Amino acid sequence: MYLTQCPACDHRVSSQAESCPSCGQPLRAKTTNGGGITFWGVVGAVILAIIIMSFE
Ligand SMILES: [Zn+2]
Repeated sequence: MYLTQCPACDHRVSSQAESCPSCGQPLRAKTTNGGGITFWGVVGAVILAIIIMSFE
């Protein structure tokens, strides 16, 4: 979890917030069904596959 800035009003917003509490600007247009773990799982799997293939 980290702080990000609202692109509309530069208010500091938690990365977990789906919209800016100050102006209501939506911060994450992507689907947010707990995608953090899935995202890094996919990235890790792809990187691992590339490493394995590069060694053969
Ligand atoms: Zn804002």
